[in-house]
Amino acid sequence: MNNVIYKLSYVSATSGIIRNFSVSAVNNANYSCKLLVVGGGSGGCSMAAKFARKLKKDSVIVLEPSSDHYYQPLFTLVGAGVTSLSATRRQARSVLPSAAKWIQDSALSIDPKKSVLTTTKGDTVSYEYLVVAVGLINDYGKVPGLKEALNDKNSGVSTIFSSDYCEKTWSDLKSFKGGDAVFTYPDTPIKCPGAPQKIAYMADAYFNKSNVRSKSKITYNTCLPVIFGVKKYADILLKVVERKKINVNYKTVLKEVRSDKKEAVFFTACEDKDKVTTQRYDILHVTPPMRTPDFLQQSKELVDATGYLTVDKYTLQHTKYPNIYGIGDCTNTPNSKTAAAVAKQGYVLEQNLLNTMKRDNPKHKYDGYGACPLVTSYNTCVLAEFIYDGVPRETLPINQARESKLAYYMKKDLFPFIYWHFMLKGYYNGPEFVRKIINPFAK
Ligand SMILES: Cc1cc2nc3c(=O)[nH]c(=O)nc-3n(C[C@H](O)[C@H](O)[C@H](O)COP(=O)(O)OP(=O)(O)OC[C@H]3O[C@@H](n4cnc5c(N)ncnc54)[C@H](O)[C@@H]3O)c2cc1C
Repeated sequence: MNNVIYKLSYVSATSGIIRNFSVSAVNNANYSCKLLVVGGGSGGCSMAAKFARKLKKDSVIVLEPSSDHYYQPLFTLVGAGVTSLSATRRQARSVLPSAAKWIQDSALSIDPKKSVLTTTKGDTVSYEYLVVAVGLINDYGKVPGLKEALNDKNSGVSTIFSSDYCEKTWSDLKSFKGGDAVFTYPDTPIKCPGAPQKIAYMADAYFNKSNVRSKSKITYNTCLPVIFGVKKYADILLKVVERKKINVNYKTVLKEVRSDKKEAVFFTACEDKDKVTTQRYDILHVTPPMRTPDFLQQSKELVDATGYLTVDKYTLQHTKYPNIYGIGDCTNTPNSKTAAAVAKQGYVLEQNLLNTMKRDNPKHKYDGYGACPLVTSYNTCVLAEFIYDGVPRETLPINQARESKLAYYMKKDLFPFIYWHFMLKGYYNGPEFVRKIINPFAK
């Protein structure tokens, strides 16, 4: 949007004096580009970097409203007091590729037939190709009482799933003197499905350090019927839960937070939502329900009934519009929504979109790879890696379904380093190359 200032003057009828004044008018801009990337998070930033290198200058536009870029996987360790929020943050300007044009605005609507996007400020962007990478947002409104409780600094209610509240998790853990610590997992798809239990394990480890564990009860309520979707890792995690004496309630979904009474209300998944149980808490860690951003929900031609971008789960190309691709958390691919998945998808999308640009069919296939480093204490972690249908796909020549120190330091130090220095610059496509070095003859 351009703000144009018009300088005008007139002669006052009463005094005869010439008066000057200015009027500002809004002139909406019309941009056009070969490739428009909507969203400049993990997926959008890395795709923009790849294509800004490959295409001519000024061919790529990135639409991203936020001036800060966060490495969200570290929010778990912010909540556990291992690292600071500032360590997870960089200015968007410093991570977005300088060879791409950044429009700091949000998408309002897309007309896929005309290949035009309109922004919330009223500008339009015409594109030849579009990559949708808008991630997920927290749907706090689905749980009455949650937002108010999060905003009350003395409520004991927090979430690591937001830069606004992950520091509150750490302050709640520090001030916990014993009692009930309750953790939740909602009945919607979420980013990093391991994180709701990771923070419960870190809380247990911290309570041991602060000598309050013997006076506390930890309860983990999950909407799922299992502790983790991949059996190989679920087996070890069940042992972790048992050792840590964490009570697990399956198919149990948070319905309401009554922070005045310090009560959390739950319903049983797949049953009558009016039948409820109530748990008292001293601290409550909530994994909020999540959904795609509003404009995508409203782009009915592009999404499924739940508002996820409909793409082919192997090629990542839109099922109806071949000039549109999707990457990351906002698509309907049935993989675990993680930055690790985004890295692997990035290569497939890059190759397939290049084919589409050459009027060829997309040939590369995403295998559903995702990874979840499940921290279980301040120096142990289970590094789960798997592909579609919950098939393990490990990189290291060790049994990764064991708690290890190596995996902990990979999560804490190595992965953030790879993210900032390689992935966002479009150079990291997942650990396939490591597998090839370790075992060059493996299929
Ligand atoms: C607590 C936590 C722990 C996690 N742990 C791990 C982990 O251990 N390992 C792992 O691999 N992953 C982990 N993740 C998940 C990982 O961060 C996400 O899967 C990844 O960031 C998804 O990338 P994305 O590009 O799809 O979305 P995002 O990185 O969220 O980016 C989406 C971008 O779209 C922008 N956007 C939104 N709406 C609009 C709009 N209307 N117009 C334009 N732009 C818009 C947003 O501002 C944002 O920048 C974790 C996440 C959290 C929150």
